[in-house]
Amino acid sequence: MARLVIVSNRTASPRDRGTRAGGLAVGLREALQKEGGLWFGWSGELSEAAAEPKIHEAGNILFATIPLTAADHDDFYVHYANGTLWPLCHYRLGLIEFSRSAYEGYLRVNRLFAERLAPLLRPDDIIWIHDYHFIPLASALRALGVANRIGFFLHIPLPAPEVLTALPRHRRLVADLCAYDLVGFQTADDLRAFSSYLEEERVGAMDRDGAFQAFGRHGMAAAFPIGIDTQAFVDLAQAAVDSPQTRRLADSLGGRRLVIGVDRLDYSKGIPQRMESFQAALESHPEHRGRVTYMQIAPISRGEVEQYRALRRELEGWVGRINGRFGEFDWAPVRYLNKAFPRQSLAGFYRAAAVGLVTPLRDGMNLVAKEYVAAQDPENPGVLVLSRFAGAARSLPQALIVNPFDVEEIGDAIHLALTMPLEERRARWAGMMAELRTNTIQSWCQAFVSRLNAIDTNRRAA
Ligand code: UDP
Repeated sequence: MARLVIVSNRTASPRDRGTRAGGLAVGLREALQKEGGLWFGWSGELSEAAAEPKIHEAGNILFATIPLTAADHDDFYVHYANGTLWPLCHYRLGLIEFSRSAYEGYLRVNRLFAERLAPLLRPDDIIWIHDYHFIPLASALRALGVANRIGFFLHIPLPAPEVLTALPRHRRLVADLCAYDLVGFQTADDLRAFSSYLEEERVGAMDRDGAFQAFGRHGMAAAFPIGIDTQAFVDLAQAAVDSPQTRRLADSLGGRRLVIGVDRLDYSKGIPQRMESFQAALESHPEHRGRVTYMQIAPISRGEVEQYRALRRELEGWVGRINGRFGEFDWAPVRYLNKAFPRQSLAGFYRAAAVGLVTPLRDGMNLVAKEYVAAQDPENPGVLVLSRFAGAARSLPQALIVNPFDVEEIGDAIHLALTMPLEERRARWAGMMAELRTNTIQSWCQAFVSRLNAIDTNRRAA
């Protein structure tokens, strides 16, 4: 069996304290652990100059990380990855910033990664690269003569061609994507966007099996919807039922029902619309006033970017308005927390919540939706309210599916969820849980890696 090499912006090394060991990290770590492997990424540090990788071993896994200079970090990560590609792929053209220098920096860092990674590779390694930070990495590795199988998974959406073509130099980016042997997307919608782009821009074509031919190359593309470590989450939630923290939460609610939202503080998550929809629910269904508390956990993310700071101010306004207008001396309708909680805590909070509100304006998948479902009590499950624009909606149609731009519709869905009969809640939950048991983070890893292994590399050149 070939060695697996994973590249992602942040690794999940035990030393990489900046990263939450989320489901993805756990899944990838398991995949690497099985046969032994290499995980390559940014160390999280800024340095004066480029440096050789720092290498350390943990179990069966070799971690290799490099620092970035402040200028590289700024161009590559802050400006191009998060200032250009993130809003583009989340359909927010108005928020896009583009500068040639940031794009050059993005390409430069990808070349740097290729140069530092190439000497660590063995001829039979298979390489799996993750996310929008590294779209050009396969091209950069090929330029250095790396002939290994290279796969790529895009964790965020690929926008429809009408949106993607708004990106200056989109052709070069898609050509870089086509340099992979296997390109994985979250959903069939993303895959369709890819094949539509090839056709509409007249640069290639993809057949029904996902075999594409474009920019003088052959490759495969497919949807691999990412899952969670379902059993681990079930166990966490079970263990959290009696934890002191979950009890404290229940005590603090004083018998009121809980509606929960858990998101990084990001404009793709639709949190202001969600606040407004909770207000709409209290307006049009006064019976919930004083009886329901909405807790929004929203750890600060990308705080150095102005749009994120503006979002924070906007949300502070919403919380103040709703609590000021509907609050009572013994009840604040909204609890708003700008801090991150460990998964154990979240599992207990999800379980205590009658409603999980997951209403992103766009989201590649959304793992919180899946975690909320996995954490429920099978005897008395809560209800998931889910945006149709989250990738998760494709695999969880039994949720209450809403349009995240329609705050009144979400408000009605909150009411429906709070009043849904037990039998219906159980039936919806069982359908979703069956899906989560079938498609896990482990099966996702396995599916991608075996597909990559099966690629016929003799057919690369078109
Ligand atoms: N998460 C966490 N603590 C928090 C908030 C979020 O551990 O306080 C985790 C959450 O459990 C989930 C992940 O962060 O596994 C968020 O993934 P998702 O796909 O929902 O959104 P993303 O942040 O990747 O856009």
